[in-house]
Amino acid sequence: MSAPPDFPTIFELSKPGRRAWSLPEAPEGSDIPIPDEHRRLEPPRLPEVSELDLVRHYTRLSHRNWSIDTGAYPLGSCSMKYNPKVAEEVAGHPGWQGLHPLADDELVQGALRLLGELERALCAATGMAHLTFQPAAGAQGELTGLLIMRAWHAKKGDVRKRVIVPDSAHGTNPASVTLAGWKAQEVRSDARGLVDFDALQEVLDTDVAGLMLTNPNTLGLFERDIEKIAQAVHEVGGLLYYDGANFNSIVGKVRPGDMGFDVVHLNLHKTFATPHGGGGPGSGPLAVTEELAPFLPVPVLAWDEQSATWHWEVDRPDSIGRIHSFYGNFGIDVRAYAYLRSLGPEGLARVSERAVLNANYLKTLIAEAFPTPYPGTCMHEFVATAKGLKKHGVRALDVAKRLMDFGFHPPTIYFPLVVEEALMVEPTETESKETLDSLGEALVQIAAEAAGDPNLLHDAPTSTPVRRPDEAQAARHLKVRWKPG
Ligand SMILES: *Cc1c(COP(=O)(O)O)cnc(C)c1O
Repeated sequence: MSAPPDFPTIFELSKPGRRAWSLPEAPEGSDIPIPDEHRRLEPPRLPEVSELDLVRHYTRLSHRNWSIDTGAYPLGSCSMKYNPKVAEEVAGHPGWQGLHPLADDELVQGALRLLGELERALCAATGMAHLTFQPAAGAQGELTGLLIMRAWHAKKGDVRKRVIVPDSAHGTNPASVTLAGWKAQEVRSDARGLVDFDALQEVLDTDVAGLMLTNPNTLGLFERDIEKIAQAVHEVGGLLYYDGANFNSIVGKVRPGDMGFDVVHLNLHKTFATPHGGGGPGSGPLAVTEELAPFLPVPVLAWDEQSATWHWEVDRPDSIGRIHSFYGNFGIDVRAYAYLRSLGPEGLARVSERAVLNANYLKTLIAEAFPTPYPGTCMHEFVATAKGLKKHGVRALDVAKRLMDFGFHPPTIYFPLVVEEALMVEPTETESKETLDSLGEALVQIAAEAAGDPNLLHDAPTSTPVRRPDEAQAARHLKVRWKPG
């Protein structure tokens, strides 16, 4: 991909009187004058362009961004996979689009049934009993789950202080623990990259409200001792929270409920057919065991046998209350439903099989250039290290920047913190062998360049519209508005 030349803004393209539409003249006497008090004093300052100028301008703009529709996007922890267009098509149906969230239950039985069936399907997939669709993202699911855990402990008159989080955890985990009013206590990983069971036992006592874990963890490794861990946490009266953002790797194969977890959130915008990134909307439904169900946010979807109808239940005295307006981001639920129905149980199992196979294939292709510090096979992603290139003055950041010149989105870098010069790679199940081969080749070539001509990496990317912005300035001082000169 070569850098498109800088091109004018749509305002600079504007020519007075140029139009992207043509309408027939209104018949004589048919126009109803707008009352003076409702008229603008000055015409709006809108660009005036032809339809073709308009199409070209926005198509060109869209190409300045990376997207899954233009190339592979192996951004670890984010599951940037291809989302079947059929799910988009279904969610765009006017029947769903035109729904009003205040419509009476009896008028929206189809929508409620969709939510009811999706709740069943996701509970079946996670091994949980009930679920709320309110959380708008994974992080909000975490907060909801922790508030439910808190309410459960409080109901028993049990005041607890800490929640244990492994050192490899996603940053949202300790943040959610803090927001929920608890102290996050870190537990270290062992030489396998898994929770150090002895270290865990040292910190377990009756002050511990629970443990938050993602399995496979952020190193892409499956916690083999999970049953032992669950038992130990339950023994001190704690609960187990499953961060289901990595569900792509086990869907259709293993269920958090069977591993001993009590609370699970899923990221529908990672695993279940909603594009991720770009600021949302997302959906992080939260599933719980029967015992924790009374604490779910209101309203709760319920089926009434007698009248054979769905309705929203609000009278739930133990509920933690609302955490989102209405019922969450419904359009995302429709996509997830379409995705689940189109794949079926066997299709879902193939998702995780392929995700794991693709990650292990790519990991092996680049193992010499970028080894992984922990032994064994990985799940849907792996964390390799670029520390071998440090002797050439090259860092993980340079590798990531250079990869863009090869037409690939960079992997996640410098996360998780337990790996030096980390490259966290998640190819996802939707990439073909050919794409994985060229991604692997690009990475191997970049490692060779680092040894031969490190400046190639320091100067990269050379093919993108924006090259190396100041990382801190670019995030803190966003320029999101163009002002006419
Ligand atoms: C993405 C992710 C989250 C947070 O999910 P959001 O929807 O971005 O809030 C939490 N944990 C893990 C492991 C993740 O990958």
